[in-house]
Amino acid sequence: MFKAIQVDRDASGKTSTAVVELDDNALPAGDVLVDVAYSTLNYKDGLVLQGLGGLVKTYPHVPGIDFSGTVLESADSRFSPGDKVVLTGWRVGELHWGGYAERARVDGDWLVPLPAGLELRDAMVIGTAGLTAMLALMALEHAGISPESGPVLVTGAAGGVGSIACALLSGAGYTVEGSTGRADTHDYLKSLGVSTVIPRSELEEPATRPLNREHWAGCVDTVGGTTLATVLTRMRYGGAVTAIGLAGGSSLETTVIPFLLRGVSLLGIDSVMCPREKREIAWNRLAQALPRELLESVSHDVSLSELPGLGKQIIDGRVRGRVVVMVQH
Ligand code: NDP
Repeated sequence: MFKAIQVDRDASGKTSTAVVELDDNALPAGDVLVDVAYSTLNYKDGLVLQGLGGLVKTYPHVPGIDFSGTVLESADSRFSPGDKVVLTGWRVGELHWGGYAERARVDGDWLVPLPAGLELRDAMVIGTAGLTAMLALMALEHAGISPESGPVLVTGAAGGVGSIACALLSGAGYTVEGSTGRADTHDYLKSLGVSTVIPRSELEEPATRPLNREHWAGCVDTVGGTTLATVLTRMRYGGAVTAIGLAGGSSLETTVIPFLLRGVSLLGIDSVMCPREKREIAWNRLAQALPRELLESVSHDVSLSELPGLGKQIIDGRVRGRVVVMVQH
């Protein structure tokens, strides 16, 4: 038997979340059985815990879009019992049972070996958020944005993806500006290397002109909506914006003028189906780039039983940094 968080839905469509005891036989099919040590709380987990977003197709469901742990059994020749592994994405925690359980049975193709230099908890401080932030940094580099190009903006800076993006960019030598809706996070953002904190409200105002004064060379955008549209009008010539999230809305009302007159690029970032080779490169860079003290400073721990109450908090933008779920406690 093992402990898990399960979300269920009744005939009227109302969802409920509880800690339950399950038998190994209840686990879905898969070729690797993992003893899960840690998971995390991401925006998407908040949606699933709240029964929102239409991400889950079959109930009862075990959420948790990422986890780290130790292989217990494997029919996949790449993994043996005792191997430490990390999983993010592949629609685990949405279409497949996820990491909010002491056991997970998954496809070996979805697992990445724990990168050298990281402990299992470190890997989940980083988690989906960190992988996504690194994919954004790699996309900006690929687009030719270097620290010399000019300042880089991170929106939703105090959130999970935002926090790690700020730390990665400042560690790589970029001048980082961070926008946040929370005045009490300014010191925290400065501690992550943010040089200028911009109030969220400044970017939420719809731009009245297709172009405004050039300022940022790059942007890691976790907010979308009006914020993204406003940012596009203020990018430098040849700048690049990575579109990651929709915490502020999924619509994008803009003009093509920043693309045509300033050669601005809008780069989509997807961590979920990102190919394995690129993931391994990103994870190895993450293991080098983020010292343990920094990982400590952006994270705090919760137990499985605290999760049902936390889904709404992350959807409401009230969670700072990264929440690590201690699955075995
Ligand atoms: P968090 O909730 O931790 O961070 C989101 C941040 O956005 C909040 O902390 C807040 O930052 C800001 N925010 C929240 N609500 C609003 C609002 N209404 N308007 C403007 N800003 C707001 O979530 P994650 O970091 O886990 O995820 C961030 C986004 O990225 C989500 O939309 C998520 O779905 C997406 N995502 C996408 C991935 C991909 O592969 N493309 C992978 C992972 C996440 P502050 O308080 O600083 O303003």
